[in-house]
Formats: sequence, structure tokens, C-alpha cells
Amino acid sequence: MHFLFFRAIKIPVFLIPVLIVGIVLGIMGYFYMSFHYSYRDTDAISWAVANKVIVVDAGHGGIDPGAVGPSGVLEKNINLAVAKRLCQYLSQGGAIVVMTREDDQCFSSKKKADLDARIALAEKHQADIFISIQGNAIQSSRWSGAQTFYHPGSEEGKKLAVSVQQEMVRILKNTKRQAQPHTGAYILRQLTMPTIVVEVGFISNPQEEKMLNDPQYQGKVAYAIYSGVVKYFSKE
Ligand SMILES: [Zn+2]
Repeated sequence: MHFLFFRAIKIPVFLIPVLIVGIVLGIMGYFYMSFHYSYRDTDAISWAVANKVIVVDAGHGGIDPGAVGPSGVLEKNINLAVAKRLCQYLSQGGAIVVMTREDDQCFSSKKKADLDARIALAEKHQADIFISIQGNAIQSSRWSGAQTFYHPGSEEGKKLAVSVQQEMVRILKNTKRQAQPHTGAYILRQLTMPTIVVEVGFISNPQEEKMLNDPQYQGKVAYAIYSGVVKYFSKE
């Protein structure tokens, strides 16, 4: 019966199996792609960051090591490693990424001048958002978990922080911390664009210090931040 259809549109008989195989493969491909993209939803909506100007700030650097872990891991190195991976993800998504530093240096030996230079760089590029990568440290070695901070005066900063923190909770699976307002951080007070400080974990906790020093975990943290940024922009 079906052959009559093909006869009617004058397709040579030997092409019929080729045509059928082609149609079947096409249908299978469609279902594979729709499954694939619903599973990797962050990749599918990464257009959301295309052409956004995003400052990625690796905290500290040079003479300023930041926090020092119990086994000697330096916060400045963790910050830079995560910042570089985040820059890769964002660039692949089509964002215009401005790094405040790409190697082990800072802008000034004076803390305020160093932060002012990072702020000036972001304002000069008229960045859409600013992400500062930092590491947490506290006297007690028990505390752990990544956490994102925003300025309470910035509604967009809060949305961005909540989105990034949700993705860190979902992807890292090792913290239930929530995004928190913070009035004390100079960078959060000074910058005019939506700004977050991502504390990637507690360097003062020996287990987390070890994890944060692992390039694979650094990549995972960077991917979680990236995913949060994509979701923030896709809701705009
Ligand atoms: Zn820091």
C-alpha cells in the first residue's frame, strides 16, 4: 500500500529504503536532541550571557595572599584558579569577560587603592555584573560551604546572588547555605552594577581546603557560578 504513495510521487523503488531510514533517523535525532537539551538546560540557555560584559575578580594577589589554610594553601591562588575557569565558561557562552587579574599580582600594596582599581576597571567597562571570587576563613575549623553575598540595597545584586547560590547548592551538593546580605564589604558598597562576592568555601576547614585546591573541584565551583549567572540573565 505504501509503495503506491511513493509510486504516485515518482520516486525510484531503490530509493524507498533510503528514504525510510532517513526519516527514522531524523525522528530519533529529534528526540535525542530534545532529551539532551532538557538535561543540560544551562548549556541550552547560555545565549542569555551572550554579549554581556562580566567582570570576574579574583580576590587578593601578589603581596596579599588573603586567607591561609591550615596546610598552607593560599586564598589568592584558589581565587585565581576558580576565576580563570569561570572566565572560560562565560567566554564560551559568548560573554565579554573582563578579569581584574590574570596572574599573581595586585594593583597596589594598599588595600583600599587595590580595591579602588578593581572598581574603576569595572566602571570603565560599564560592566553588566561584577563577580568577586573569594575564600572564607574563620578561627574555628568546623565551618564549611560556599556562600554568596550581596548588598542589601541592590535588588538585582540580590537576584544574582540567590541564583548563583541556588546553583552552588544544587551542583556542589555539600552546603545548604543561603545567599546573604552584607553591608561591610567595600566592593559591594561602591560598585553601581549588580555585584556579588562568592566565598567559594572555607579555607580554614582542612577538608574544604584540600577540595578547593583540587582543579576538578575548582572547575565544578566555576561551573556552578556560571550556571547561576546564566539563569539570572535568562530571567531578565
Ligand atoms: Zn578574600
